[in-house]
Amino acid sequence: MTEMSYVDGNMLDGPLRELFAIDLSAATGRCASCGAVGPMAGLHVYSHAPGLVARCPACSGVMLRLVRAPDRAWLDLRGATYLEVPMPFDQPHPGPL
Ligand SMILES: [Zn+2]
Repeated sequence: MTEMSYVDGNMLDGPLRELFAIDLSAATGRCASCGAVGPMAGLHVYSHAPGLVARCPACSGVMLRLVRAPDRAWLDLRGATYLEVPMPFDQPHPGPL
């Protein structure tokens, strides 16, 4: 079996910045597989596939997949229970609709 190399989650910042206007490198995520909580920058990102696959550093479970086509992108976050994103304190809180 060949050990595949990876880079850390900081490399997700550019590709995800296309989708989100927030800085995801400062976000925290919870692994749906093992429950580990840690910074998105700590994920192990495998970029050899057609898309990006980010795995939990604790259990290697897939937490995020991002596939980019010329005119669209697919983001699969089913492996993350949540993302906790720091927000500016003065951001207005959404009221009832
Ligand atoms: Zn995990």
